[in-house]
Amino acid sequence: MIDSGDYRGEARLRMPGQLQAPPPLALYVHLPWCVRKCPYCDFNSHALRGEDATAIPEQRYLQALTRDLERSLPQVWGREVSSIFIGGGTPSLFSAAAIDQLLVTLRTLLRVSPLAEITLEANPGAFEAARFKAYRDAGVNRLSLGVQSFNPQHLRALGRIHDADEARAAAAAALELFEAVNLDLMYALPGQTLSEARQDLETAIRLAPAHVSAYHLTLEPNTPFAAAPPSLPDDDAAADMQLMVEETLAAAGYQHYETSAFAQPGRQCRHNLNYWNFGDYLGIGAGAHGKLSSHDRIERQARSKHPQAYMDALLGESGSSNARPTLLETRKLTRADRIFEFMMNALRLTEGFDPRLFEARTGLPLLLAEPALRAAEQRGLLLRGVYDGADNIRPSEQGRHFLNELLQMFLPGD
Ligand code: SF4
Repeated sequence: MIDSGDYRGEARLRMPGQLQAPPPLALYVHLPWCVRKCPYCDFNSHALRGEDATAIPEQRYLQALTRDLERSLPQVWGREVSSIFIGGGTPSLFSAAAIDQLLVTLRTLLRVSPLAEITLEANPGAFEAARFKAYRDAGVNRLSLGVQSFNPQHLRALGRIHDADEARAAAAAALELFEAVNLDLMYALPGQTLSEARQDLETAIRLAPAHVSAYHLTLEPNTPFAAAPPSLPDDDAAADMQLMVEETLAAAGYQHYETSAFAQPGRQCRHNLNYWNFGDYLGIGAGAHGKLSSHDRIERQARSKHPQAYMDALLGESGSSNARPTLLETRKLTRADRIFEFMMNALRLTEGFDPRLFEARTGLPLLLAEPALRAAEQRGLLLRGVYDGADNIRPSEQGRHFLNELLQMFLPGD
């Protein structure tokens, strides 16, 4: 079973809605710049003027991150940070000295576990072996490389800044330097055939990374791809690719442990597992999201999305306006939100969850979710039973393939 933190020995809940103990805590740091914007991307990423990495205001942004963290400390005081994820954007556009400075700051201000998984996202188009090595020396122990494809035609169609040779070179260097490497791949790409999708996957498998994330390309609203959709494989072809991805990775020894995530045994991404187990995370940086629990509330946070507004809110105006932008939006989760959001995360996991985890993370009795659980079970989307000696609730194979349908059953009001 997947480790989801030490919740099993927790004493009985005090009152419905109250947590007995805070969940494990992770830290997410958002570095929001990219050389240019990929046409399918709806992340909070901002193209650099003139595609020039030296245009990143590294020092000012680091100061803003430090201020952001300092302000957040009372909310996480004394808690150990079990993982750090530096995501983007393209964090590998930041100099190794800046990443080193960032990690020193995080370790100084927070109680970071000596065993913390520390991931940095990197782009093969912003790859230098010496810089990767310096990231490792700064304390990064897991590299997540956004390869997406090894096929030159598909990389061009995706508007990626790297070519196939750079993808291979960056992956090889990452695997030499880091013990834990994730390769991000996408399938159902414009004009892609099943055999081309298989070739991408086989190239990745030959490199033997500990972890592979394989995403179905989707057209997200407000992206150039949504405005002018490219010719994509139809639903049947995309479903064949998904099946091929699952079978090929399973045959190569990768466990399919979450909707899009595959890992060699014991090599799951601990940071992402914490999200899926409805753990807590503090998010700092422009547009970063967080989820923090205290004994009687669970709160979601979102920071200002635009880097300039984010820095101005924390460090003061660099322009002429007197109005200071708002840094933070917060939303307290209702009971219905807690049920839905727990299920939305935990049912992504192939192995699902232990019912006690639900109660420990939401502060609510599982009885409140019983009508939806029963309905999902009756529709063949959910399984309940004893696995590895523990009670367990997990999506059925059908539930995994029709995950949205399953999750909708837990929507408030349904
Ligand atoms: S590199 Fe990643 S974050 Fe940046 S624009 Fe492309 S998909 Fe978005």
